[in-house]
Amino acid sequence: MTFVTRFAPSPTGYLHRGHAYSALTAFEAARVTGGRFLLRIEDIDATRCRPEYEAAILEDLAWLGLNWEAPVRRQSEHLADYEAAIAGLRDRGLVYRCFKTRKEIDIGRAPHEPAIAYVGAPLGADEEAQRLARGEPFAWRLSLAAAREALGGFDHLSFLEEGADGSSPRTVQALPETAGDIVLARKDVGVAYHLAVVHDDALQGVTHVTRGEDLFEATHIQRLLQALLGLPTPIYRHHGLLTGPDGKRYAKRDKAQTLRELRASGVSAQDLRAELGFS
Ligand code: GLU
Repeated sequence: MTFVTRFAPSPTGYLHRGHAYSALTAFEAARVTGGRFLLRIEDIDATRCRPEYEAAILEDLAWLGLNWEAPVRRQSEHLADYEAAIAGLRDRGLVYRCFKTRKEIDIGRAPHEPAIAYVGAPLGADEEAQRLARGEPFAWRLSLAAAREALGGFDHLSFLEEGADGSSPRTVQALPETAGDIVLARKDVGVAYHLAVVHDDALQGVTHVTRGEDLFEATHIQRLLQALLGLPTPIYRHHGLLTGPDGKRYAKRDKAQTLRELRASGVSAQDLRAELGFS
């Protein structure tokens, strides 16, 4: 089986050191196994993505010495595919309309507490019809209860986590309940990241998902979506996150650490690769 992995940035800002590390980890894993490396642009959230960031991503990765297969898949060009997948779940009664706002859901939550994992239920037909008639916005949420029934429970859902370089494989039991009834589509963003990711990883034949450990928890819900959509489960390689001198992980807002700023300040791609542990 050919090893296929990907780097899947969202063009919501300039790439920083942490992205360089992630992209290099995926690229090198493909290189040493004689496999394939794909670049995917995850730009479904039109409210946050910008074309200039996408252009910068391509430029910065090329500067870093990476190359990837063409054409690059751009998620915004495939919205109809994701909508069809959501419609399929809707036809099977696995999603429901939720009219609650984030504010309503978070009532009683202190600012330092994590977001509440919402679990709801479809409204009665009359109330739903009235709210729709009033034009109230709603989100499509995945019903954990319906999913549990459709799959006969979640106990048989697991995934293989290999660690950054594939050296520490372990089987992880998927616990999709932790996230609650996740939003699969909203009025302004027609498809959620989780759905587009599992759809595309399967479509593109990705065998190994390489990404930062900040997305490890997301894997639980993505594993559930794979089961519901009848998609294969890739092997996961979540890597540690780079931190700056202050011990905090790099974020898109750290302007000085973007690849373009580093480049402008005279850092060579070779220097950066060496600093990140790549030759
Ligand atoms: N697009 C996601 C991000 O930029 C990454 C998705 C993934 O690697 O699964 O955070």
